[in-house]
Amino acid sequence: VSLGLLRERLPGERRVALTPADVKRLSAKAIVTVETGAGLEAGFPDDAYANAGAHLADLQQVLDGSAVIAKVRAPDASQTPRAGGVLISLGGRDAGLAKRLQERPVSHLALERVPRISRAQAMDVLSSQASVAGYVSVLEGARLLDILLPMLTTAARIIKPAKMIALGAGVAGLQAIATARRLGAITHGFDVRDAAREQVESLGAKFVSVDLAMPTAEGAGGYAGEQSLEQQERLRRTLAPHLAAMNLVITTAQIPGRPAPLLIDEATIAQMPSGSVIVDLAAETGGNCAHTRPDELVTVDGVRILGPTNLASAAATDASRLFSGNIRSLLDHLIDEAGRLRLDPADPITGPLLGVQPPATTSSAAA
Ligand code: NAD
Repeated sequence: VSLGLLRERLPGERRVALTPADVKRLSAKAIVTVETGAGLEAGFPDDAYANAGAHLADLQQVLDGSAVIAKVRAPDASQTPRAGGVLISLGGRDAGLAKRLQERPVSHLALERVPRISRAQAMDVLSSQASVAGYVSVLEGARLLDILLPMLTTAARIIKPAKMIALGAGVAGLQAIATARRLGAITHGFDVRDAAREQVESLGAKFVSVDLAMPTAEGAGGYAGEQSLEQQERLRRTLAPHLAAMNLVITTAQIPGRPAPLLIDEATIAQMPSGSVIVDLAAETGGNCAHTRPDELVTVDGVRILGPTNLASAAATDASRLFSGNIRSLLDHLIDEAGRLRLDPADPITGPLLGVQPPATTSSAAA
């Protein structure tokens, strides 16, 4: 099979979908063509790809010569794969892209649709990139704080450790807790899924309990379900006094395909100490905090609110290594020993990636 790797075009996107090391491993069963400069911003120069056995080419040559195109973000119009081709990238929630690909036609293995089953864990870019974002979020937040995270015992005086909480204790939130704890903060976590308590506590953080008077909020595939408006209000009012005691708040609460739940409203912000910092990782889907603006720093009542939408890119080399490991696992699943690509809609991984709905059985799986 012929495999093409494209350079990202979205401003600020520094990652690359495949590293030279993975290109080398894949070259046993694929002919790989890499667009010039594809890995530069992630720290992988062209000659590293050439040494790994790839051909270097310009955009059009990669598109014309590759049956399968790999990239991180949804392709723009100039990057649409050739008719009959296969695209592996994010962008599964982009209706305009879906239409463009259907017209050509191109099969899209959209990475948001990796099913949450153990066999597919190695292919799950949302998880791998959320780990990086969770880690970076604490570093960014720490830089914005005017206080230190660790306790400092000095001859001058004792500095108290900062207090941190992660709202949403999934992949990103747990990594944020672990990172803040390594930096010496007193850590806390909250999630609507019951299963998160044990994970938060196993990191040495305190789990904040909120009695929502509702059954466990775990939905399909380990995702959280959405709360009613009353439950959301109750959640906000119960969280508010906890947040008033925090210096650093990392919010990661997401519900797939839905706007992010509002966890911090204006009344809560007004109670928070001046100088505290909120890093809202849900900014792209509307944010968990009232004043969040994507990729902007907003200060309200002395509280700094940051809404980064691409934190994984800040650690582009390792984020790309993880992303690339996910793509290689996926390609290993799709390409047989003879180097033939198999797109079986009935396969439990390939089917969901293609957007094929599973046969209606018991509960519906994530779309
Ligand atoms: P996510 O990014 O969809 O959401 C982040 C977190 O926000 C989740 O923990 C969710 O429960 C939480 N949340 C949603 N609404 C909330 C609200 N109103 N208040 C507070 N928190 C709220 O989730 P994620 O981090 O990708 O993963 C969630 C779970 O799924 C984790 O336990 C993870 O280990 C599991 N998971 C399993 C697989 C697999 O089996 N292959 C893959 C990925 C994740």
